[in-house]
Amino acid sequence: MAIQPIRLFGDPVLRTPAEPVVDFDKELRKLVKDLTDTMMDAPGAGLAAPQIGVGLRVFTYYVDEQLGHLINPDLDLGGEVDEEGEEGCLSFPGLTFPTPRAISTVAKGFTMHGEPVTIEGTDLMARCFQHETDHLDGVLFIDRLDAKQRKLAMKAIREAEWSGLSSPVVKISPHSTQGRAL
Ligand SMILES: [Zn+2]
Repeated sequence: MAIQPIRLFGDPVLRTPAEPVVDFDKELRKLVKDLTDTMMDAPGAGLAAPQIGVGLRVFTYYVDEQLGHLINPDLDLGGEVDEEGEEGCLSFPGLTFPTPRAISTVAKGFTMHGEPVTIEGTDLMARCFQHETDHLDGVLFIDRLDAKQRKLAMKAIREAEWSGLSSPVVKISPHSTQGRAL
């Protein structure tokens, strides 16, 4: 297990477009494992490499009990849009907003072994693929909200306990010092 800290909104890495993967090597396989372990631990339905501070076009997903990953994704969106689906992001802990997304996607990319793959997704899978591919372009789900929801989101972000923390939140057990203050 190699669980990595998840970067929070405000960390510039989340706004930096990621680079395509060129070398399908041992390092890449380690990155996929770290992403998978971190996503499953969170737990989350998807995690993109920039969310653990790595600027490469890689994401993992766990939707409808299907665990997978995609390298250098290229997405085609279906025409129909779900305007109301609630969406959240591990980089915005505790917040969800209705986020418009295409209901179906066809994702082309590669496995960590460099084999080409095509994955067709609908509903939550399609939503996840759009969300994660956006991460690789430095785009966040709050960018996809309508004006009213975005205003609500910005307010909720300002009020969130993690707001302004670009480093990971360290959770300290209240019993770790037998109640004594440090
Ligand atoms: Zn996200």
